[in-house]
Amino acid sequence: MSLDDRLLTCLDERLNARLSERKAACLYRARATVAINSAGMQTVNGQALLNFCSNDYLGLSQHPQVIKAMQEATRVAGVGSGAAHLVSGHSEYHHQLELALARITGRPRALLFSTGYMANLGFITALVGKGEQVLGDKLNHASIVDACQLAAAKNGRKSFLRYRHNDLDHCEALLKKAPPHSLVITDGIFSMDGDLAPLRELAALTHQYNAVLAVDDAHGFGVLGENGGGCLQALGLSAEQVPVYMGTLGKAVGGFGAFVAGSEALIETLIQFARPYIYTTALPPSVAAANLAALQIIEQQPNLRQQLHTNIAHFKHALQPVLENNPSAQLLPSVTAIQPLVLGDQSRVMQLAAALKNQGFWVGAIRPPTVPAGTARLRITLSAAHSPAQIDALVHALGIVLE
Ligand code: PMP
Repeated sequence: MSLDDRLLTCLDERLNARLSERKAACLYRARATVAINSAGMQTVNGQALLNFCSNDYLGLSQHPQVIKAMQEATRVAGVGSGAAHLVSGHSEYHHQLELALARITGRPRALLFSTGYMANLGFITALVGKGEQVLGDKLNHASIVDACQLAAAKNGRKSFLRYRHNDLDHCEALLKKAPPHSLVITDGIFSMDGDLAPLRELAALTHQYNAVLAVDDAHGFGVLGENGGGCLQALGLSAEQVPVYMGTLGKAVGGFGAFVAGSEALIETLIQFARPYIYTTALPPSVAAANLAALQIIEQQPNLRQQLHTNIAHFKHALQPVLENNPSAQLLPSVTAIQPLVLGDQSRVMQLAAALKNQGFWVGAIRPPTVPAGTARLRITLSAAHSPAQIDALVHALGIVLE
């Protein structure tokens, strides 16, 4: 056996031990291969399933106008953007999309990022300077946590502090001791719980302590607000009150990518200093064109948002008798498209998700470390693309598998 072979075997042995540990703890993750995706119905590993785990909240990933816009832009501009934005990758499609994002969010400017993960890494590391702190909600999305840790690696361990979930008193206690200009960052809608951050109160607190509030609205952009402009639009919070707004394009918009919206100075700073913006290839122009077409639909068709909210209310109402019969399953108090059913134990969650799959329904099985230990859950997501009959069928199946 050569030295290379011995090193490889040794690495594989260690990795296999780690993988076995994960399997034994019922935390092993596997991908499903999806073939067809239409109006909530998907073919997964050859089986037709009704999809209740996608973030395509308005069904726009399948909209004919969006598909057409993408095809047309590919014909004109080709497939890849060929370079980073600051080199030659910034096309007219990207430019128009940024203008539309600024308009719809009511901010002076917007800047596209290739993913939400990168947007969070980019703006958080660019904004937290030497001697400054970043404070985050304990249940913030993993991409925010990673970004804060990266900022802290530059600025010292104590520069990233977490406050208890939606706990304004705890946030204020940390702010009292924080240096001025600290960044407070929260999910707008929490991705695994579906609840909303107390944004009005956080805006007032950050103002009082001379800090800066940033909101990740991955799950609110497109579905909240009068024209889909997100959680800040719904609450009437201005760019002065919440200077940094981040949204994603892979969820309600049905496309791919993300953006940060805010002042001229904020966006220019990110262009200069946000490394995940600077050192990566720009989104394909066709993706920008598809996102733009989806935004037009979001603005022009409020009925899609209304349908989503009707579906959410329908699901919550229909599930009541099932919950009464199964007190060990706890539906979290969410009014958004994310409806988590907490069961606690990860093996039970896996077993229930498999049983639902057998009945033709695909729901997310969420386990630690994505959620805290002991709070494993089924994450059910609703879409405007679901029909009331499909929602009733899921509720019926939940009633059967929970017994
Ligand atoms: N923030 C939140 C709150 C999210 O839920 C997600 C996606 N799961 C992201 C950021 C990352 O966005 P993207 O998938 O575009 O990287």
